[in-house]
Amino acid sequence: MPELPEVETIARGLAKRVTGDVIESVWLGQKKEPLKSPAPEIAATLEHSRIAAVRRIGKHIVFDLDRVARAPTPAKRRESFRRSKGTGTPPSRTSQPEAGGGARPTQTSAQWIVHLGMTGRMQVCEPQAEVEKHTHAILRLSSGRELRFVDPRRFGRLSVAPAADFDAGGVEPLEVDLDRFVTLFRGRKTPIKSALLNQKLLRGVGNIYADESLFRAGIRPRRRAATITREQLAKLHTSVKEVLKEAIALGGSSISDYVDANGDEGFFQLQHRVYGREAEPCLVCRTPIKRVVIAGRSSHYCPKCQK
Ligand SMILES: [Zn+2]
Repeated sequence: MPELPEVETIARGLAKRVTGDVIESVWLGQKKEPLKSPAPEIAATLEHSRIAAVRRIGKHIVFDLDRVARAPTPAKRRESFRRSKGTGTPPSRTSQPEAGGGARPTQTSAQWIVHLGMTGRMQVCEPQAEVEKHTHAILRLSSGRELRFVDPRRFGRLSVAPAADFDAGGVEPLEVDLDRFVTLFRGRKTPIKSALLNQKLLRGVGNIYADESLFRAGIRPRRRAATITREQLAKLHTSVKEVLKEAIALGGSSISDYVDANGDEGFFQLQHRVYGREAEPCLVCRTPIKRVVIAGRSSHYCPKCQK
């Protein structure tokens, strides 16, 4: 499942390749699950929109769209021409769309929000590239390429927001300051691991990076959040940012030369110190790494280094 650093890497890669492009038309598949907004609404929002920016918010990829109103249809032009004849306006003026006032192109903003779920992928490819099985959306771009959303397990979600008002909830872990960070966990009786995964507190920290951050901060995943001192939380605050930034840097360095034939992003994973290393020796003290299940998720820690 893509976590914050992967989503950041994907968003940066997409930004590089599709910013400024205009979405000419949209095809959406028949499967209902990937469409969080109604299909007609998604299509109407995306079509004829210019991709002004692509960025990550939490674990979402957000496309900021400039919506340029379409030129008036020939029927409307004829109508305005008829109207203008009645008022005595010369026909030559009415042939310019701007002259009618209401036909002036109006720029509005909207957003296309993509959550990759477990197996979702975004492809930027040539139109002749074979359409993979489990393709749920194809956007034809003015540059001649296509932007496709492929998701075999269909946990990914596509939605649109009518204005630039998408709110992923929670606090951005790369931006949160220490005071705010400490406040998030104050009085919480849940294990710190669960609190880190709670998207209403910090948005975008997933299982792997939560385990890695707790290891670096020397805190056991099962510790109740409320019992952790400010000093320890300060360490955790630092380690969460460190781990995410390192992973983003790894992804970022691979972005330019690691795009496969379908236009998929690839990334190098951060070398895990505890995650997925059950029974292997701790890289610091050689004690075997333990695995426990907290709130249904595997948690890995060193019983000696983490208290
Ligand atoms: Zn250790």
